[in-house]
Amino acid sequence: MGIIIDGRKVSLEVKEEIRSFVNNRKEKGLKVPKVVSILVGNDGGSVFYINNQEKVATSLGVDFEKLLLDETISEEHLIDEIEKLNNDNNVHGIILQLPLPKGINEKKVINAISSDKDIDCLTYENQGKLYCGEKVFLPCTPNSVITLLEKYEIELEGKNVVVIGRSNIVGKPVAQLLLNKNATVTICHSRTKNLQDICRNADIIVVAIGRPKYLNEDFVNEKSIVIDVGTSSLDGKITGDVDFERVCNKVDMITPVPGGVGALTTTLLIKNACEALENNEN
Ligand code: NAP
Repeated sequence: MGIIIDGRKVSLEVKEEIRSFVNNRKEKGLKVPKVVSILVGNDGGSVFYINNQEKVATSLGVDFEKLLLDETISEEHLIDEIEKLNNDNNVHGIILQLPLPKGINEKKVINAISSDKDIDCLTYENQGKLYCGEKVFLPCTPNSVITLLEKYEIELEGKNVVVIGRSNIVGKPVAQLLLNKNATVTICHSRTKNLQDICRNADIIVVAIGRPKYLNEDFVNEKSIVIDVGTSSLDGKITGDVDFERVCNKVDMITPVPGGVGALTTTLLIKNACEALENNEN
C-alpha cells in the first residue's frame, strides 16, 4: 500500500499555527481576525460550507459572522452590503458563497470585494496577481494541494506534474502554483489524447475533473504520487476522481477522499484571514 497523505493531520497542524497566532494577539490585547461570509439564498451546498467555515473559525478564536441575505436581493443592494464590509476596519476577510441566485451578475459582485479582503482569491485583481507571481491570498483548494505536497516533503522543482482539469477554480490555479514551485507542468482536459500515457510518465498527478473513480491503475506507475481533488456524490458517499481501492497499492503516495485535499481547504481560508489582518496593520 502506498503512503496515505493525511489531509486531516496536516489540517490539525495548520490549525495549531492559527490558534497560536490568535492567542498571541489576544495576550497582547491586539485585534483578532474577523471574517464575514455572505450567503444569498439557501443553496444546500453553500449552507454546508458556511456552517463548516463558522465551526472552523470559531474553534480557532477567529471572529466569524454569517451575513444571510434573501435570494430576492437586488444586485445593487448586494454590492452595497459588500461596500459596507470593505469600509469596515474591523472586518479583515470577506467570503462570498457561490453560486449566486440567477439574475445576479456574479462577476460584478465578486469584483466589488476589496482585493485586501478577498481571502478566497476570487477577484480579477487577485487572480491577476496570482498569475503574475505576485504575493496574494492563495486560493484555498489549489493551496491545499501544494501544502499537502510540501508537508510530506515532496520535491516539486523539476518534477513532471500532470494536472487533469483546467477550471478557473482548481485546474488552472493549481498549475500556476506548481509552476511557481519550478515544476514542469502539463495541463490535461477532456480533449487530451493519450491521457493514460501522459499520466503514467508523470512524477505527480493532480486530478480535478469531477468524475468519480475515473483514474484507475492504468494511469499510474509504482513511483506515482496521486493527489485527488475530486468530490462527487456516488451512492450517497463523497467519492474522489481516483478509484482508490484499485490505485492505492500501485503507487508511492496518494490522498484519500474524504480526508485529503478537502480536509484542509477551509483551514487555509481562515489562515488567509490572519494574513489579511497582518497586511492591514503593515
Ligand atoms: P469543472 O469546472 O467541471 O472542470 C472539470 C475539468 O475536468 C474541465 O477542465 C474538464 O475538461 C475536465 N475533464 C472532465 N472530464 C474529463 C476527462 N474524462 N478527462 C480529462 N479531463 C476531463 O470542475 P472543478 O470545479 O474544477 O472541480 C473538479 C472536481 O474538484 C469536482 O469533483 C469538484 O467537486 C472538486 N472540488 C473539490 C474541492 C475541494 O476542496 N476538495 C474544491 C473545488 C472543487 P474541459 O475543460 O475540456 O471540459
